[in-house]
Amino acid sequence: MTLESLVAFLAGLVLGSFLNVCIYRLPRDLSVMSPARSFCPACEHQIAWYDNIPVGSYLILRARCRHCGARIPLRYPIVELLTAVLFFAIVSALGPTAVAVKLCILVALLVGLTFSDLEERILPDEFTLGGTALGIVLAWFIPVDDMIAQSLLLLGGIQPGPHWTSVAESVVGAGLPAGSLWLGGILFEKIRHKEGLGLGDVKMMAMVGAFLGLRATLLTLILGSVAGSVIGLIYIKLAKKDAGSYELPFGTFLGFAGIFVALAGGRVIRWYAGLL
Ligand SMILES: [Zn+2]
Repeated sequence: MTLESLVAFLAGLVLGSFLNVCIYRLPRDLSVMSPARSFCPACEHQIAWYDNIPVGSYLILRARCRHCGARIPLRYPIVELLTAVLFFAIVSALGPTAVAVKLCILVALLVGLTFSDLEERILPDEFTLGGTALGIVLAWFIPVDDMIAQSLLLLGGIQPGPHWTSVAESVVGAGLPAGSLWLGGILFEKIRHKEGLGLGDVKMMAMVGAFLGLRATLLTLILGSVAGSVIGLIYIKLAKKDAGSYELPFGTFLGFAGIFVALAGGRVIRWYAGLL
């Protein structure tokens, strides 16, 4: 274990703690900046710094608010630990590089979306649209590992420099899959008169595409859909939910699939490209 991976782990704990604030506040349209200090949702008591230490405070307080005794959801330590472990794995594999930082940003956004969807069935625009814009900007500095836009541009006789090529991969990755999903959703609604894929899922896929390019986004979509249908059906059966009215947190499955693809990276993409 290197010092860098340890720092990444600690950074993940702290960022995971901030993600928890976002997961609670964004779906409720509350500001993540004010109040700056966290409060107990049950008794609205401000939480002291020593009760706000990632994972540690949850254990010491035995999952209860110090003031009113309300339960602290298990989601808090899970999000903190998960973000920390993912940051640790990325920096251990790639070193303290710009690529590692970019992947850490993406998985943090995906963790935030995964748990917002699981809890509130909401994929906040702050994550999805903000993440899409950020992914396109970051593409200028850190190359998007794909060659779809490059091939399309070459067909048109255009050969931009490496920075613009990377931005083009990012824009194609964000636009093509999300655009098709959006169009498919409209058609589905016209034909079946009910909503298929939510707009939040579409925007989430645009974000993944802006960071990882077209092929990785298609792979995320396939993995997320398969996992969502299989696990969703099993859950509906086991928990005896009504299949007609139960709303599957599809964004949660897309989130985990996106994290898997981001972590496994080029290796999985090449295996998958070999199948096509
Ligand atoms: Zn309380």
